[in-house]
Amino acid sequence: MQTVSALEDLRKIVRNWKLDGKSVGFVPTMGALHQGHISLVQLSVTECDKTVCSIYVNPTQFAPHEDLDSYPRQIIEDQNLLEAADCDLLFLPEPETMYPPGEETRVDVPELGAKLEGQFRPHFFGGVATVVTKLFNQVQPDKAFFGEKDFQQVQVIKRMVTDLSMPVEIVPGPTLRADDGLALSSRNAYLTPEQRQIAPALNATLHRVAIRMRNGTSPEQAITAAITSLELSGFEKVEYIEAVDGQTLDPIGSDLPDYPCRLITAAWLGKTRLIDNIAL
Ligand code: AMP
Repeated sequence: MQTVSALEDLRKIVRNWKLDGKSVGFVPTMGALHQGHISLVQLSVTECDKTVCSIYVNPTQFAPHEDLDSYPRQIIEDQNLLEAADCDLLFLPEPETMYPPGEETRVDVPELGAKLEGQFRPHFFGGVATVVTKLFNQVQPDKAFFGEKDFQQVQVIKRMVTDLSMPVEIVPGPTLRADDGLALSSRNAYLTPEQRQIAPALNATLHRVAIRMRNGTSPEQAITAAITSLELSGFEKVEYIEAVDGQTLDPIGSDLPDYPCRLITAAWLGKTRLIDNIAL
């Protein structure tokens, strides 16, 4: 695997691949890689001739009070994991490439990005849409792979790609979990051993809500009980649990519809904000 930081180096390599008729897959990440990220790299390796992974902790998707400075960074371990997964190229862009002096352009997906996560992290999807647009322009992949663990992010990126006619196919990958159901996340490293024991309750609770809804309990009733039970098990604050249309992310009514729906949540365990979602 090659590692490059300069945009000209990235472009030269990708241009040569394309001249050779190779398809290019792309996995954007913020690093501190785990098997969830690696599963996306493996998907790309299966579906494309060449795979590029980027690691960039994007400042514009963090609010001033969030964990930008403390976000885990472990480039050597990340390189080893990517190498073992047959990634072809690691792109570690320079900050001034991503946000050149005087930069001011932003990409926004205002409606979809204001729902769910957007209620609590209003800056977040503007930052994500902007950095993913930049990365797509830099890498120019044929396909880009995103984890369903960040379900709303997949929908926002798909909307953006459609709206802006970006020549890239968005491929979602399933959420990788620990054996006890906790979704793998770079932020799990923040959990104390005690919190790590409590954390799987988030996924278990989503499954309980889904079962109750399938058995005829209204979303409102099932979700209210779930929030109480999570708070009793040690979660400080459940920001939301919502049953939503899997595409528009609008809340579903009292009956379970026959189109794909999703149960989505975000909750705080100590100083760590965990998110999760399952199909309904
Ligand atoms: P991040 O580094 O958190 O920005 O994540 C980079 C990519 O990895 C995103 O597309 C995430 O959705 C995806 N990802 C993160 N955690 C998981 C997981 N547990 N399973 C599958 N994909 C994941």
